[in-house]
Amino acid sequence: MPKAAAIYARISSDPEGDRLGVTRQVEDCRTMAERRGWPVADTYVDDDVSAYSGKHRPEYQRLLADMRAGTVDAVVVWHLDRLHRHPRELEEFFEVCDGAGVRSMASVTGDTDLATHDGRFLARILGAVARKESDDKSRRITRKHEEMARSGRLVRNSTRPFGYRDDFRTIEPAEAAAIREAVARLRAGDSLRGIATDWNERGIRTVRGGPWKVQVLRRMLASARISGQREYKGEIVATGHWEPIITPEDTARVRAVLAGATRTTTRTVRRYLLSGGLLRCGVCESVLVARPRQDGTRRYLCAKGPGLPGCGRVAIVAEPLERFIEAAVLYRLDTPELAAALDGATPPDDDGERANLAADRAQLEELASAYGEKLVTFPEYLAARKPIEARIEAAKRRLARLTRTEAITPYVGKAGALREAWADLPLTRQRAIVASILDRVVVAPAARGRNRFDPDRLEPVWRV
Ligand SMILES: [Zn+2]
Repeated sequence: MPKAAAIYARISSDPEGDRLGVTRQVEDCRTMAERRGWPVADTYVDDDVSAYSGKHRPEYQRLLADMRAGTVDAVVVWHLDRLHRHPRELEEFFEVCDGAGVRSMASVTGDTDLATHDGRFLARILGAVARKESDDKSRRITRKHEEMARSGRLVRNSTRPFGYRDDFRTIEPAEAAAIREAVARLRAGDSLRGIATDWNERGIRTVRGGPWKVQVLRRMLASARISGQREYKGEIVATGHWEPIITPEDTARVRAVLAGATRTTTRTVRRYLLSGGLLRCGVCESVLVARPRQDGTRRYLCAKGPGLPGCGRVAIVAEPLERFIEAAVLYRLDTPELAAALDGATPPDDDGERANLAADRAQLEELASAYGEKLVTFPEYLAARKPIEARIEAAKRRLARLTRTEAITPYVGKAGALREAWADLPLTRQRAIVASILDRVVVAPAARGRNRFDPDRLEPVWRV
């Protein structure tokens, strides 16, 4: 049983104010020492307001000296990250512990037996994680300085963000409404290009008074600012102190949608409702591709040729096929089967999914920094990374599926309204609606001698 425990606390320079004050740290440590029956010999408090620049900490040095001198034989800290910030410091601390025979170590936020190999390994990992937090924090500070600069003297020189007034924090109602509408449309399957075109036609201008370009719109809609969050290099680091226009969950969804879209939007706008994997060849199961006839008649076919997987035996004229599928989709929207199928799937509660995804990503970062600190070997790092990445991929797929369901939920049982609006919907949105209900249509070869559209060739496979 230790005879003289030391309490170590550090005043953290925390701009967000989300850390415990030093009084509370010391109180918690005292309670912990009492519970263990360790008499407290002294309390050491460093003022670390000058951030984690590795400045010398006189009280920490005094603690090490007292340990070496043998006047302290146990240490209580609130969290290990209060004790050290750099691996170098931690190793020095271990050396002092070994030299002085100090084996009793307690932290309020979790016990660590620094006498054992495992305990020290854990301490090293925690140290690596703490260092990452510290890096994030210095990023937040940089960002804060930038914010202060922007809302201070430089305001008149710089441009206000879209959706906000000149004070950068008060919502501009008309622009905010446009943003919310755009987010809803994006989530329902509309394209950035479609939204930009629409805004430009309606006279919605950028803050500089110009028309919207796709990339500018993308940046604005994906920005953390509009959901009242701060970001640094695309990563959300803190909650801002201005009014949010959309929720942080909206921002997460927008980013998910845009991340999924980057793969396909580089192509020109789809003129073919059923391209992109919805049609399959009834002979070889290849995806039918959009390929007009010489005379311009739109057509899908199983493409045969060098580098193409198809058999070339199936082709179908697009127009009547698309009309037929549209009608089938609209019909299916009103069926009890669809309502029942969606009943189990909606409302899409994706918050838990999102939380898991965030946790997995955080774990991946921790692992990376542990590798960076040489706490794990490269093969170990790779092996540990694999299952986490697999989980992240699976979660992303599930989220994409939930987003897809969102495209139709407003229309279930209301096919009449959708039927009226259908022709005016952008193709991307029509496509999102079709794809959310229909998995694929298998198209059989045309019967000999029949030129007219023949629904018997089609075998739809419904998703819901
Ligand atoms: Zn084929």
